[in-house]
Amino acid sequence: MYVFSVKYQEVPLEDKERLFEEVKADPRYEDYLYGCYECGICVAACPSARFYDFSPRKIAQTLAREDVETFYEQLNDDVWNCSQCFSCTRCPRQNNPGGLITVMREVAVKNGLRTTKEALAGYTRIIYKIMTTGTQVSPDMLQEDAFPDWGPQVKAVSENLDLWRLALPPETLHTTGTSWEVEERTMQELYAIWKMTGSLDIISSLDEGLSDIMEEIMDEELEASGLSF
Ligand code: SF4
Ligand code: SF4
Repeated sequence: MYVFSVKYQEVPLEDKERLFEEVKADPRYEDYLYGCYECGICVAACPSARFYDFSPRKIAQTLAREDVETFYEQLNDDVWNCSQCFSCTRCPRQNNPGGLITVMREVAVKNGLRTTKEALAGYTRIIYKIMTTGTQVSPDMLQEDAFPDWGPQVKAVSENLDLWRLALPPETLHTTGTSWEVEERTMQELYAIWKMTGSLDIISSLDEGLSDIMEEIMDEELEASGLSF
């Protein structure tokens, strides 16, 4: 049964159905959805439901009803509101709404949806940092324009970073590079894994330039290490 939706009318129904079938074809899907009592227990447990117009119940319901139009809206508008905490797995029907959202996110990324590119645009530098150095965000990356939803404190921190570094002694706050060094061989193995599993291809569907830059770095290092393939 399809429910009429005013959003995304310009997208052909066949495209929405194809994406829905892609989600359903994921091997995890049948373990994550058994129907829905509409009891709302998942909503009560969900932290994101408190702060956003978002509901894991609606995700489970939509998929159980095979409501392709609403599914497409959720694929574009809702899935990035989930914090992937999996508190919703206390569902009495044994559903895993957070897991269903994981699958939907992966399909959204692989298909390079415009809304997905927009949702993840602020994370480009983090992806680059983690995948090329194996470590996480460094303090100088906390720029206000990239993290608008982190609140006004990001602006205060980024504007006064030198002062923060003087005031706070931990070593990680003195770096503008990485938080810590990852052992060279570990890094090479991570590069090999990311290349073999197609992670760069997935990133390429969102940001081809970023994927190319990282591939060049990884290829050079892998060639030097003897792990080239
Ligand atoms: S807890 Fe489970 S059965 Fe209840 S509304 Fe959420 S998904 Fe549906
Ligand atoms: S995994 Fe997502 S949907 Fe489930 S409780 Fe956490 S934030 Fe809510």
